[in-house]
Amino acid sequence: MNDFAVFAPALWTAVFCLLLAAGLLTRLWLAGRQMRHVAQHRAAVPAPFAERIGLAAHQKAADYTIAKTRLGLIETSFGAALLVGWTLLGGLNALNQGLLAWFGPGLLQQVALLAAFTALGALLELPLSWYRTFVLEQRHGFNRMTPRLWLSDGLKGAAVGAVIGLPVVALLLWLMQAAGPLWWLWAWGLWMAFNLLLLVLYPSLIAPLFNRFEPLQDPALKTRIEALLARCGFQAKGLFVMDGSKRSAHANAYFTGFGPAKRVVFFDTLLQQLAPGELDAVLAHELGHFKRRHILKRIALMALLSLGALALLGWLVQQVWFYTGLGVTPNLMQPNGALALILFLLVTPLVGFFASPWMSALSRRQEFEADAFAVAHADPRDLASALLKLYKDNASTLTPDPLYVRFYYSHPPAGERLARLGA
Ligand SMILES: [Zn+2]
Repeated sequence: MNDFAVFAPALWTAVFCLLLAAGLLTRLWLAGRQMRHVAQHRAAVPAPFAERIGLAAHQKAADYTIAKTRLGLIETSFGAALLVGWTLLGGLNALNQGLLAWFGPGLLQQVALLAAFTALGALLELPLSWYRTFVLEQRHGFNRMTPRLWLSDGLKGAAVGAVIGLPVVALLLWLMQAAGPLWWLWAWGLWMAFNLLLLVLYPSLIAPLFNRFEPLQDPALKTRIEALLARCGFQAKGLFVMDGSKRSAHANAYFTGFGPAKRVVFFDTLLQQLAPGELDAVLAHELGHFKRRHILKRIALMALLSLGALALLGWLVQQVWFYTGLGVTPNLMQPNGALALILFLLVTPLVGFFASPWMSALSRRQEFEADAFAVAHADPRDLASALLKLYKDNASTLTPDPLYVRFYYSHPPAGERLARLGA
């Protein structure tokens, strides 16, 4: 063995540990800042909101934010422990060896490895998911789920994931084995096609498995919204109301599908909370995302990133140190596609975390652009009061830590957003 072969795995282990520790410490530090900042501003409603938000609502938002951030701390620590368990402590290696003994080498074993890894990961996260719904959300008055619905959601999700995911995974692993050194280019084509297909199928086939969608009934509201859509030059196939209240009191509205199959979906909770003018403004904001091509831009960015990621994986899959440095013994003279893919999926978030300030900044800029579009097509006062209602009803804090915002917030905090609207 030459020097590099000895040295490389140890170096890779060190880089991995460094990335993991730096990411973990940064996350814990940011969460601590957020909790302290919110707690320090809990006693009084900030001046610009003093007339419109009561002290009780402000303190409810503070308590909810702190509780959510604290749970995030536990999730982060648990995730880091799990990552070390899978890699350096040998979890993934043991799973791989076990399945090799069971199935023997081949495509079936590879698919089984990916499926088992995903299923185990999901099972290990169940307790925290349960806690989030039935303790955190429940305690703050947002949860509407029953344990029965939670269970059926989980089972349905797993079934849908298996039906859609297994064939795609099998095809991907087959490409890695059979498509030659440029397999990653083919895999990228498969990945893009799969995502576009999902975009088309999701609203009509998958979403209805979990929620009921009914055409918007209220004739006055319908006329109003259709007028707004026409004013913005937007064609949608239909206006739907979704029974979001089945699971949570949080409210939302969104567009889904693309091309002529676009549809507008309102959560029933949103219709209950907002006045007609405010609904117009929220919808105009969502239209702004479409008109400013934010969705297309996001798809293009993802396409570019996934191409880069797959090219990198195409190289890493052949490097022995990539496996051994992370506690895994690659199969000799056998394909290692599934192992490489899993390790890659485990490691990329460590690097991705440090890119989150840029991604969040991009997202927040797009929110401002959508707001600007909305005030050009609806009443700015309506947008301001709708946003304020949503921040209040979702118990979003008005006083987040500025650095925490920079890292994580996909939407600008209420203060900045309303200031831009001149409210
Ligand atoms: Zn938005």
